[in-house]
Amino acid sequence: MASPLCIRGGRILDPVRGIDRVQDLWIQDGKIAGLGEDAPADVRSNKSAEVIQVPGAIVCPGLVDIHVHLREPGQEEKETIETGTRAAARGGFTTVACMPNTSPPLDDRPRIEYVIRRAEESGLARVHPIAAVTVGQMGERLTEIEDLVDAGAVAISDDGKPVRNAELMRRALELTRRLGVPVIQHAEDPDLKGDGVMHEGWTSTRLGMKGIPDAAESVMVARDALLAELTGGHVHVAHVSAARSVEIIRRAKARGIKMTAETAPHYLILTDEAVEGYDPRTKMNPPLRSAKDRDALIEAVADGTLDCLATDHAPHTEIEKDSDFDAAPFGIVGLETALGVLLKALVEPKHLSIPELILRMTANPLRVLGLPGGTLEAGTPADVTIFDPARRWTVRAAEFASMGRNTPFEGWELKGLVLLTMLGGKVTYRAQPLEVSAR
Ligand SMILES: [Zn+2]
Repeated sequence: MASPLCIRGGRILDPVRGIDRVQDLWIQDGKIAGLGEDAPADVRSNKSAEVIQVPGAIVCPGLVDIHVHLREPGQEEKETIETGTRAAARGGFTTVACMPNTSPPLDDRPRIEYVIRRAEESGLARVHPIAAVTVGQMGERLTEIEDLVDAGAVAISDDGKPVRNAELMRRALELTRRLGVPVIQHAEDPDLKGDGVMHEGWTSTRLGMKGIPDAAESVMVARDALLAELTGGHVHVAHVSAARSVEIIRRAKARGIKMTAETAPHYLILTDEAVEGYDPRTKMNPPLRSAKDRDALIEAVADGTLDCLATDHAPHTEIEKDSDFDAAPFGIVGLETALGVLLKALVEPKHLSIPELILRMTANPLRVLGLPGGTLEAGTPADVTIFDPARRWTVRAAEFASMGRNTPFEGWELKGLVLLTMLGGKVTYRAQPLEVSAR
C-alpha cells in the first residue's frame, strides 16, 4: 500500500453530488479514499501520508474536453498526443476525446488502437478516440463502425467536415443507436459556407471579407434534429456558434429528441469584431459571430440547452497561422486558456456559479459520451484538478505546453490558475510554487 495523499484546505466541489465545502480530500492507491471524516481511519492516521496545502483553492473532479485535435498520426509538426495531453494537463484536464481528422483519419481499428496506446505511453490524460463516420472522411461510405467502437472509439464524427449526405447520416444514426454512442456533427452546409472566412454580417461587409452565414450551421442542425427523431439515434452538435442553432436544439430537446450540444470558450467571449485586425488567430470554423449570438450561447449554457463546454483545441504551425487571413487555416488552441476564459466569460458576470461551470466541464461532457466519472466519490480514480480562482496570470503562448501558439487570447490577463492536475493519483501537472509537506 502506497502512502496516502491529503489535499488540505481547499474548497471541494463535486457538483454531481452537490458537495461544496472546505474539507480534506484523501487519495490512496490512485483512488479517492474519501472526504474528511469519511475517509477510512487507517488512511487518515497513516504516519507517512503526504499533505498538499491548497488554502483558497478549488479542488474538483478532473476537467474533461470532448473536442480536441491531437493531430497524431500524420501532422506531428502541429501537435502530438504527448504534447497535446501535456497541454491538457496544464489546462487542468484529465480526460479528452480526440477528433479523427488526422492524416490518415482514424477510420480503422489499428489507428484507434494506436491513439489509445500512444496516450497510455504518455500517461498525461485519458484519451478517448472518436472514429470517422465515413472512410477517409470522404463522405461516401460508412466505416466499420461497430468494429471501431469495439476497439475503443467513444463516438463517431467526420469533424473538420460535416456528414453532408443525409442518407449516410441516417444510417450512421441507426447503427450508433444500437451501439449506444453518439454521432458528433460538425454542423455546416458546405454550399452555404462556400469560401467564406468569417461570420457574414456588418463586420464582414465593412472589412470586405467573404462571410459564412449563421444558417450554414443552423440548417444542418435542423436536418440532424429531424434525422435523430426519425432514427432514435443520438446527435451531438459540436461547437455551436449561432443563436438560431440554439433555438433548434432547444426545441428538439423539448420534443424528446436525443440531441446534445457543446460550445467553445471563444464563442462566449469574442465576437466577429475581433476579426477587425485581420489577425488569423481570430479565424476559426464556425466563425466568431455577432454579440446577439454570443449572448444566446451564454443563455443556452446557463439553461442547459448546451450540455457542455469543449475547446475545439486545433493547433497549427506558426508558419500556417502567420499567413494572411484569407490563406490561414481555421482553428485556435484552447486547452491551456479554457478555464480562465470560461471563468471570465461565465462566472465573473454571474451567468454561472463555479460549481455550475465545473459540472459543464466534467460530468456533463462525460455523460454525452456515456462515460463514467466526473465525481470525487470514494473508490473512483483520483482524477483531480486544483485551481486558484483568484490568482491572476497572463496568457503567453510561448509558454504553452501545446506546440500550437495560435490563440486569440495572447496577452490577456485571466483569473483562475491551475495549480495541480492529477490523473489516477499521479501528478500530471504542478504549478510552482505549491507547498507540499510531510504530515
Ligand atoms: Zn468541427
